[in-house]
Amino acid sequence: MTESAVGYIGIGSNMGDRQAYCEEAVRRIARFPKTAILAASSLYETAPLEIPDQDRFINAVVAVRTELSPHELLRACQEVEQFLGRKRSVRFGPRTIDLDVLFYGDRIIQEPGLTIPHPRMHERRFVLEPLAEIAPGLEHPVFHKTADQMLQVVRDRQDVRRLGPFHLEQKAG
Ligand code: AMP
Repeated sequence: MTESAVGYIGIGSNMGDRQAYCEEAVRRIARFPKTAILAASSLYETAPLEIPDQDRFINAVVAVRTELSPHELLRACQEVEQFLGRKRSVRFGPRTIDLDVLFYGDRIIQEPGLTIPHPRMHERRFVLEPLAEIAPGLEHPVFHKTADQMLQVVRDRQDVRRLGPFHLEQKAG
């Protein structure tokens, strides 16, 4: 039997039609080979803390069951970023879409180009809010805290507001 794992992918966009970019990213994740979406959080809007006139981010988290390896999953996410980010004009500027592999089962990976669990996820309210919505009891394999517990102690006081559910059906026409 082929092994599969449950992975969590963080999604963010702060440029253009942010919601449409997030939704298109999830439709593309659903078409990754040997991968199925298990759950999608609501969409959240995140107010930037330090640079108030920067556009707000829309963030979400999806859970997938996948037979892709961690590297294959990251590569597939990067292809979506490249495809949807093809209009990005300013290097390091605002992003049409940012995909992070947050967790891959309870694997701990520290390699050049791939760190799992994602090294900053536990410090970010915009990751923890949507993660705790779909997987409150998911345990971080390094800190041994659940998503709910990490959210309770996170110092990030960023304003993260729930906007509503994803709309994943393709529009007709
Ligand atoms: P960023 O521009 O912040 O999206 O960072 C992208 C870089 O982070 C890429 O070079 C990835 O190889 C690297 N990276 C390391 N670990 C991860 C991870 N768990 N998820 C996504 N990108 C990662």
